Amino acid sequence: MSRIQIEGLTRRFGDVAAVDGISLDVADGEFLVLLGPSGCGKSTLLRMIAGLTAPSGGRILLDDRDITAAAPRERNLAMVFQSYALYPHLTVAKNIGFPLRTRRRKDADAKIAEVAAVLGLEQLLDRRPRALSGGQRQRVALGRALVRDPGAFLLDEPLSNLDATLRTATRGELSDLHRRLGSTFVYVTHDQIEAMTMATRIAVLNGGRLEQVGTPEQVYDAPASTFVAGFIGSPAIGLLAAQLRSADGELRAQGDGIDIPLGVLGDSGGRDVLVGVRPEHLRVGAGDTQLRGTVRHVENLGGEEVAHVEIGAGRVAVRGPRPLCLAVGDHITLTCEPDRVHLFSATSGRRLVRTPDPDRATVAV
Ligand code: ATP
Repeated sequence: MSRIQIEGLTRRFGDVAAVDGISLDVADGEFLVLLGPSGCGKSTLLRMIAGLTAPSGGRILLDDRDITAAAPRERNLAMVFQSYALYPHLTVAKNIGFPLRTRRRKDADAKIAEVAAVLGLEQLLDRRPRALSGGQRQRVALGRALVRDPGAFLLDEPLSNLDATLRTATRGELSDLHRRLGSTFVYVTHDQIEAMTMATRIAVLNGGRLEQVGTPEQVYDAPASTFVAGFIGSPAIGLLAAQLRSADGELRAQGDGIDIPLGVLGDSGGRDVLVGVRPEHLRVGAGDTQLRGTVRHVENLGGEEVAHVEIGAGRVAVRGPRPLCLAVGDHITLTCEPDRVHLFSATSGRRLVRTPDPDRATVAV
């Protein structure tokens, strides 16, 4: 069992807080993905968990034991790097068995065989790394972590050196491995697809801080901020400037080409907001929700098409089965279900929650 608790963890490099007071509880057996753009502090956070970078403040607990100051080898955590870091002069078997070199030969050989079987490397045990593909090398690096029976795996962008096809296949293999082992995985990536497809929970980082932690469904369906909304989803969510207005007791988000009934009564009018709509929720045609604009670009994705539509000073994308029958320059109206519309504060970028209670403020942060 391996539960990892991170409490107010900070790491400064000079004036830069690479990780800035992050608290996170990773449950035993979770596949937690640390997701964010380059420089947001993901690797620094992972290296602190591994014991390779010392925190400037905060604590790390492993199964309730404070390991903040423990040496890496005392943590029983296995780190897998993007660069594989295999020994070029050693065979696959010796690379996998490297952490076991002080054990009895027979025990080590049995363990190497077991790990090779789990990872499908049985036929490659006598090869050297240069005679392996990128995906096979990555599996050997995983094998070297697996052979130690660690409490948890820490993986830093392990797929980023692989080509697109292999990356997709290896994603499936990693998910499968996680299911079979039942171990805790903490996985760093800037790739939202990897996060969405493999994670049990995603922690989204921005500028050293935690923006949101939740299941893939939670971060996609209810992003806590415009940052999370814009980072997850492709094509990206459209974000449009609008104002909340009260009309006949009903609250609407309105702006240049925008009219969205919010389905709540209230007096929260006059507030500047950003409305967010995902491409798959928009369709061409009129409805209660109306976005009026001009088609600026149409992309053919094979089975689907994506049209980029200028609405006032902003843009949204609409996707659907090909052909969408839209051409550049068309003036069109788009609609969607009102409850598919995300609302964010224009000042803080935080999600606004709609509470359908007429006695209370109807739109709150
Ligand atoms: P990437 O995806 O590019 O690896 P990341 O999210 O993993 O990025 P980190 O590598 O954790 O980000 O870096 C976070 C910030 O800390 C960056 O601004 C980086 O320049 C800075 N940083 C990281 N390591 C050091 C270091 N050893 N010395 C100085 N600054 C550092």
